[in-house]
Amino acid sequence: MLSVSGLRANVGDKEILRGLDLRIGPGEVHAIMGPNGSGKSTLAHVLSGRDGYAVTGGTATFAGQDLLALAPEERAQLGLFLAFQYPVELPGVNNTYFLKSALNSIRKARGEDELDAVSFMRLIRDKLKILHLDDSLLKRAVNAGFSGGEKKRNEIFQMALLEPKLAILDETDSGLDIDALRVVSEGVNALRSPERSMIVVTHYQRLLDYIEPDFVHVLYKGRIIRSGGKELALELEQHGYGWITDEDAAA
Ligand code: ADP
Ligand code: MG
Ligand code: MG
Repeated sequence: MLSVSGLRANVGDKEILRGLDLRIGPGEVHAIMGPNGSGKSTLAHVLSGRDGYAVTGGTATFAGQDLLALAPEERAQLGLFLAFQYPVELPGVNNTYFLKSALNSIRKARGEDELDAVSFMRLIRDKLKILHLDDSLLKRAVNAGFSGGEKKRNEIFQMALLEPKLAILDETDSGLDIDALRVVSEGVNALRSPERSMIVVTHYQRLLDYIEPDFVHVLYKGRIIRSGGKELALELEQHGYGWITDEDAAA
């Protein structure tokens, strides 16, 4: 599904990703953990093609294509989805209109017809229920004035609607209370399938009690320095990052 090799990227003149390797198979859920500032969000943004991040080396292949050669919208049409750590407010852009445009653009790329208005509304109401979101959010501007928890749930709502092949969830758990965390996790788990892969970026082991990863990676100073199963997350919770980063420094 995704194969990243030796990826290097700069933000401005600062090198943030410093030779990152990551392989993700279909249906796999990978957790990426790591101290603040280690480059987790930068990786998410580089993979999704955000402006302002310059790739200086390495490769990334997604669904058989050279990911780094594609425009952000082409990546989305191929089935890549990013749930932002800090969801952006889009005042003046109606949430329903936004969802419909995104869905139709992706359906078109898949060679499918646009959904008629009735089918579309039925679909989004079904998905709203999964995330326990109020349908009044559909009439409002995207994320404008949404609470922190509503913004995060709205990201997963978008994912539920767009049914990506690879979803990157960047600290979707931060700012969620325990009930919202459960709802979001149930929404994510409902979307797990043998054809869909996920990268779950988190600081906290807690999320991984709800979304059980197949693999856990530690990202530190722009490289993945340790990979393991879900027991690695428990070790990190107990011992912090020091025991790994010290070894890395020694190496
Ligand atoms: P993480 O998500 O792991 O906390 P980030 O990828 O957000 O880390 O940040 C990695 C490093 O890149 C940090 O030192 C951060 O300050 C820097 N950085 C990220 N985005 C920008 C930006 N737009 N301009 C300047 N520096 C940035
Ligand atoms: Mg951070
Ligand atoms: Mg981050």
